[in-house]
Amino acid sequence: MKATTVASILSLCLAGYAKASCGEAYAQCGGINFVGENCCVAGTECVSLSETYYQCLPVENSDEEEVEVSANVEENEADSNSDVEETEFPRGQGMQFFTQCKNPKHWAMTYDDGPTMYADIMLDLFKKYDIKVTFFVCGNLYYNLEDPEWARIIKRMYNEGHLIGNHTYNHLDMSTLTAEEITSEMKKVENALYNTIGVRPAFMRLPYGSGASSPVVMDTLAANGYNAAINWNVDTVDWGNSGDIEYSIKVITEQLGNPIITLNHLQFEGATNERIVDLATAEIEYLLSKGYTPVRMDECLGMAPYQE
Ligand SMILES: [Zn+2]
Repeated sequence: MKATTVASILSLCLAGYAKASCGEAYAQCGGINFVGENCCVAGTECVSLSETYYQCLPVENSDEEEVEVSANVEENEADSNSDVEETEFPRGQGMQFFTQCKNPKHWAMTYDDGPTMYADIMLDLFKKYDIKVTFFVCGNLYYNLEDPEWARIIKRMYNEGHLIGNHTYNHLDMSTLTAEEITSEMKKVENALYNTIGVRPAFMRLPYGSGASSPVVMDTLAANGYNAAINWNVDTVDWGNSGDIEYSIKVITEQLGNPIITLNHLQFEGATNERIVDLATAEIEYLLSKGYTPVRMDECLGMAPYQE
């Protein structure tokens, strides 16, 4: 049976689970301090992972539901650049929303919220493995962009071949902001990056993965020269579980066979040098052992990462 037919039939069975389509697959959907869109795409549901963290995860617990999830995967592969996303995720002209790479053997490792005090040991680790990752950086989270450490770390990331994307100045939920506020959140970081490394990112990550369904957010990002809002299909939940290696390997295993974008953070509650390095090492060793090629987001998507 065609994947699309299976999906259409099963989507009827799943009507109860399919909350409003926010375009937030695998996004955070609740928890203490969360102010984002509290809904998940069809085939996923809002699951409590800890007191402070809720995430949209594939619906489980019945055979039918599992078929629905794999049917969606088949559709995505067949449509490669994804008519599914075109219809499900409203966005501005030239702006696209992604949760995975194109090549099923590609794995893009992404690190959010930097620069942080752990950036240097992580850069040492990536150098040791000769892996290039993508950093989605903020301007006023752990280091303010006027701190000389911010520029030093950004330069080191860039000079060592990693990709830099924009993760906003204050790490606010974009779906709660006006177009002017969104522009300001993007431009402050973008201008600082331009002054530091001479490029303006075309890729961004929405704080909390929130805002892809908002025309205001997506149109404003497009108007500012961005071409990709990038979520993930593997959330290690490092910041919610203090870097639990077993959990990360479990969620990676669920995506084996698919192209993978992993979400990690350059700092999280309970982080130590050892925990943050050990978690990354476990992910790297595991995905390399499964035959994945680590790639930056530009290779993952086949798109230019910086504005011209
Ligand atoms: Zn973040």
